[in-house]
Amino acid sequence: MKKEPFVTKEQLEEIVKEYPTPFHLYDEKGLRRNMKALKEAFAWNKGYKEYFAVKATPNPFLINILKEYGCGCDCSSYTELMLSEAIGVTGEDIMFSSNDTPAEEFAYAEKLGAIINLDDITHIDFLEQTIGHIPETISCRYNPGGLFKISNDIMDNPGDSKYGMTTEQLFESFKILKEKGAKEFGIHAFLASNTVTNDYYPMLAKILFELAVKLQMETGVHIKFINLSGGIGIPYTPDQEPNDIRMIGDGVRRVYEEVLTPAGMGDVAIYTELGRFMMGPYGCLVTKAIHEKHTHKEYVGVDACAVNLMRPAMYGAYHHITVMGKEDIPCDHKYDIAGSLCENNDKFAIDRMLPKIDKGDLLVIHDTGAHGFSMGYNYNGKLKSAELLLKEDGTVQLIRRAETPADYFATFDCFDIGKKLLEE
Ligand SMILES: *Cc1c(COP(=O)(O)O)cnc(C)c1O
Repeated sequence: MKKEPFVTKEQLEEIVKEYPTPFHLYDEKGLRRNMKALKEAFAWNKGYKEYFAVKATPNPFLINILKEYGCGCDCSSYTELMLSEAIGVTGEDIMFSSNDTPAEEFAYAEKLGAIINLDDITHIDFLEQTIGHIPETISCRYNPGGLFKISNDIMDNPGDSKYGMTTEQLFESFKILKEKGAKEFGIHAFLASNTVTNDYYPMLAKILFELAVKLQMETGVHIKFINLSGGIGIPYTPDQEPNDIRMIGDGVRRVYEEVLTPAGMGDVAIYTELGRFMMGPYGCLVTKAIHEKHTHKEYVGVDACAVNLMRPAMYGAYHHITVMGKEDIPCDHKYDIAGSLCENNDKFAIDRMLPKIDKGDLLVIHDTGAHGFSMGYNYNGKLKSAELLLKEDGTVQLIRRAETPADYFATFDCFDIGKKLLEE
């Protein structure tokens, strides 16, 4: 499928007059359309709830839009909990799906009334010692081990992942938690990441639903919800077929009716913790070509770098690039699109066929709405960019300002040298 930006060249030329590149731009219209589609796809399940994975895009303005549709927050750290609380998402609207959890984070999650999802059997005692009791509602994260396959395709490798408990530990945990006073139980699993297939959720659901029936029978606990977590992917490359959320929702419904309903478990709520699927396509990184360099390869240097988008450097991830205004020009130039970090992996694209790029051209790097800005860092003293929202009415709202040197030096404020740096 042809990938087209959600913003036009004319719109961008207006935006850059006020907000210099680079910046992340988000698409309110797309975000709302997708959120509605997700809700509709799971409307068959009475208790259905999406808990947006805050780590994917920790911006209160964007999460507030999702909140209008009843979306909660999936948090895994202290500051993510703070962000949720600040936008009025508290209590069971928070899923605290954390791992290797520090005591103060459990304490804060409990204070907010969040649902706590335990990553390990040893966390039962740790939690009890930290907060003094076991909450009435509690969830456990499952990891069956082995490889996660769909047909013969290996989707991911749970056996090699640090998350979750084994089957035996899960049964044991439920028994212990029940003894300690827990009343309502949840099961959570995240077995494959960025799946671009409509089969992942239904397959995961089948594993978890069958497990839930066994758990309920063997331990006598009441299972309130099953959390399918994240993992629904997006088509980063033009040749990938996008997931069809209606088909995914329907696939889960069929497994539900086949496994849970006959077991008398037709009251189980389905939860999701999607991040990438919710925001990924509805954000892009806008950057400007500032240099061209002809050495052993052809380079275009842009004003963004891996600090603004780490996925290509970290995973070799593909992000589609549109050279604005040159959509219909043949892609007959082979470029490395590079940032300015002193790291050779700071490249948004390698050997990418693109139209001829001239200095001053605006480049849209697609699908940066999730795990984009949020993975940013400050290597080489580079500053994080602004985030902007392209609203439904076509206007643009600043939803996070760009960092300044004062932000970068802020943690020296308790030293004399800090005073000097922060004055400038
Ligand atoms: C990262 C994460 C998610 C979201 O994953 P996506 O791939 O962005 O959908 C959900 N739940 C947990 C526990 C996570 O760590």
